Amino acid sequence: MPIMNKLNIGTGKGISVVCKKCNRPAKADQFILDPVYKMMVCPSCVKDRRDTEMIAAKKKKTDAVEQEQKKNKPKNWDAEDEYLEKAQAKAAPKPKVKIIDAEHVKYQCPSCTYKFKYNKVEKKPANCPYCGSGILVR
Ligand SMILES: [Zn+2]
Ligand SMILES: [Zn+2]
Repeated sequence: MPIMNKLNIGTGKGISVVCKKCNRPAKADQFILDPVYKMMVCPSCVKDRRDTEMIAAKKKKTDAVEQEQKKNKPKNWDAEDEYLEKAQAKAAPKPKVKIIDAEHVKYQCPSCTYKFKYNKVEKKPANCPYCGSGILVR
């Protein structure tokens, strides 16, 4: 009797069946009725399906995070802008501002310490009258 036949005789264990889904052979007793494929598939197919689902789920999550980040930031915003803004915020000296009334503030230029009246509504003067530095009041 040939060896091949001997191996397959008995309980049925060890018999290889070609999977209808992927055409790969697998042990007959390892086939699983998959709820998604709605058919008997080999363990490799189930594993493949789970891997694909996991990647898809992961990607979905990443996309959602990216979308959220895009929403919160202006267009063309990237890490470099963020870095520059942080660096600028750190480097820029803070002007001394004293509120006079609803429109006017007493402003001390952080560059030259020149004090002048600044109109917040009209945004005047546009620059420090003494040294020409930009006004940092918003
Ligand atoms: Zn398969
Ligand atoms: Zn100035």
